[in-house]
Amino acid sequence: KRKPIVAGNWKMNGSVELVQSIANAVQNVNNQDVEIVVIPPTALLSNVVASGVVAGVQTVSEYDKGAYTGEAQASLVKSLGAKYTLVGHSERRSIFGESNEDVANKFAQAQANELTPILCVGETESQREQGQTEEVVAAQIIAVIDKLGIASLVKSVIAYEPVWAIGTGKTATPEQAQAVHKFIRDLVSKYDAEVSQTLQILYGGSVNESNSELLFAQTDIDGGLIGGASLKPDSFTCICESA
Ligand code: 13P
Repeated sequence: KRKPIVAGNWKMNGSVELVQSIANAVQNVNNQDVEIVVIPPTALLSNVVASGVVAGVQTVSEYDKGAYTGEAQASLVKSLGAKYTLVGHSERRSIFGESNEDVANKFAQAQANELTPILCVGETESQREQGQTEEVVAAQIIAVIDKLGIASLVKSVIAYEPVWAIGTGKTATPEQAQAVHKFIRDLVSKYDAEVSQTLQILYGGSVNESNSELLFAQTDIDGGLIGGASLKPDSFTCICESA
C-alpha cells in the first residue's frame, strides 16, 4: 500500500502570516495516513520548517555551489530542513526554459543531497489534441531513467500535471488522470516491476475540495500536487482529509 501525499505548491505566493495559518490548519487535519507537504517560495522555507510542517522547495540548482547568482543549492536547502524538491514543474519548463536534460540534472542534485525529488511531467493542450500525451510524458520520465538509472526512482515521487489543467479550473476527469497514471506505472514496470508498485504518483492541475476525493480514489493516483487551493487553509485541509 502506497502512502498518499498531498503537497501544496505555493508558487510565487504566500507570506509569513500564511505559513502560520496553514500550519494551524494542517495540525487539525483529521487523517493520519497522508503525508502533508508545504512547498513555499524558498525564501519562506525556514518559516515552514519552524512551523513543524513537512517542507519542500519548488526547484534547486543543478550546480553544487559557486558563482551562480540567484540559485539555491540543494545541500543548503537540505540543511535548512526541506525533505522534498519539485523538479521540472511545467512553469519551470515553459517560462524558464528547463529541458528534460536540465530536469534530470536537478533530479540528480536533489538525490545527491538526500532531498526527495518530485518529478513533474505533463502534456500541453495541443500535445493532447495531437495524441502525443503518452509520448511526451514518457520522454520526460525516460530522460531521468536514462541518465540516473531505474533505481533512482525508488526515492522519488512523480507528479502528473497536464499543463492544460494547471491554474485553468479545467481538471482532468478521474478517468483521464487514471489513464495517464496507469501508463506511467506500466512504463516504469517495464524497467522494474517492484519499483513501479511502490512509486507514488500524484495528480496536479486544478485540484480542489470538490474534485479531490474522486481523483484520489483512482487506483494509480497516490495523492495530489495542489496549486491555488493550497493557499486557502480550509480548502487545503479538506483536500488533505480526502486523501
Ligand atoms: P493549480 O492547482 O492552481 O491548478 O496548480 C497546479 C500546480 O501547478 C501545482 O504544482
